[in-house]
Amino acid sequence: LKVQVAEIDIPCAFGPAYEGERVRGADLYAQCGGGKTQCTELVKMADMNKIEDGKVEIVGPDITDLKEGGTFPLGIFVQIAGREFQDDFEPIMERQIHHLINYIQGIMHIGQRDISWVRISKAAIEKGFTLKDIGVVLHAKFHQDFNKIVDKVQVTLYTKKEDVDKMTATARENYKTRDERVDKMTDEGVETFYSCTLCQSFAPSHVCTVSPERTGLCGAYNWMDCKASYEINPTGPNQPIEKGECLDPKLGQWKGVNEFVYKASRGAVTHYNFYSLVIDPMTTCGCCECIAALLPSCNGVMTVGRDYSGETPCGMKFTTLAGVMGGGASSPGFVGHSKFNITQKKFILGDGGLLRMVWMPKMLKEELKERIVARGEEMGVPGLFDMIADETVGTTEEEILPFLQEKGHPALNMESLVG
Ligand code: SF4
Ligand code: ZN
Repeated sequence: LKVQVAEIDIPCAFGPAYEGERVRGADLYAQCGGGKTQCTELVKMADMNKIEDGKVEIVGPDITDLKEGGTFPLGIFVQIAGREFQDDFEPIMERQIHHLINYIQGIMHIGQRDISWVRISKAAIEKGFTLKDIGVVLHAKFHQDFNKIVDKVQVTLYTKKEDVDKMTATARENYKTRDERVDKMTDEGVETFYSCTLCQSFAPSHVCTVSPERTGLCGAYNWMDCKASYEINPTGPNQPIEKGECLDPKLGQWKGVNEFVYKASRGAVTHYNFYSLVIDPMTTCGCCECIAALLPSCNGVMTVGRDYSGETPCGMKFTTLAGVMGGGASSPGFVGHSKFNITQKKFILGDGGLLRMVWMPKMLKEELKERIVARGEEMGVPGLFDMIADETVGTTEEEILPFLQEKGHPALNMESLVG
């Protein structure tokens, strides 16, 4: 990769060459998010005369006020105005924050939405990096890369806990509205799915295919978002895929998708299934909001979100799981997926669907409670929510099995998952 230093007025080098760079423990100056503090991102459309182009405001202490090794909460709030801008474009702009912050030498960005994680190196601080530079980068790159739709960009960076919490609550309402835009759609109802190859810089053979009933595993892109992204940028990372002949309706496999994925992965992936984690699941990259895993003794599956740092019944914590399978391969027995996908109707339906879910972290379960209850009822098991174990019941298969038996969890009477 060639280092492409555009005219972006920050003290650090900037460009795609720095995207894959890590900030390891010994190099770390300070961090936010990653389960230690709250770190949230939100892009919102604004009225042309309500914002000031290029304004970057830090509300609260800056990184220079922190001691080495410190943590701080962060809310990145970007407002965009443009004659051609639509609120449908907000998620697309928001997802750019990931690679744009990664382009800054010495700064690392992981995740998205309300589970972001930013690590800042000592080297960057020595060069003079401050939080304002995040705003400078977003302003400059949004203009450069999206000049068709962007006229004004204003960035506010919140670093006081109460402000970040308030912004996070607003952000979650926005995420919910966006997620629900595909709620009434079905995979059968469209002929076209969309690819997403935005993550190939980290996971070269990874190709997300986003269908109405399978949102991108990062949770940031659903079918509507990919469609809008293709409209803005017809040669970009979200291409329409004619799904073509259905090769397996139960597991969710289409000829057109296979052909696309084969090409887009440069021959590394020949096929995958949308609705199974047991048989040739979709590929997974490191951004996934959750990772589901097979629990053979329980004849079911578990899933764990990025924001849960404890042990899980599959024997691996989220970070270990993401490390093992986030490289862009299809790993039978595991699959990365978004939080929202858990209650979408096609979620691992080829393996039995949500009725296979035997363990989730309490926090994730509570977050999705309303939707899990509704989906359980829809699938004929009204009490499903209370049958799903969490870490208060146990974090090994042996610990949770008696609970599942006592509750009469449906997975125990389903067809065996392991051949
Ligand atoms: Fe795109 Fe998938 Fe990466 Fe999300 S995880 S940005 S949908 S490739
Ligand atoms: Zn990714």
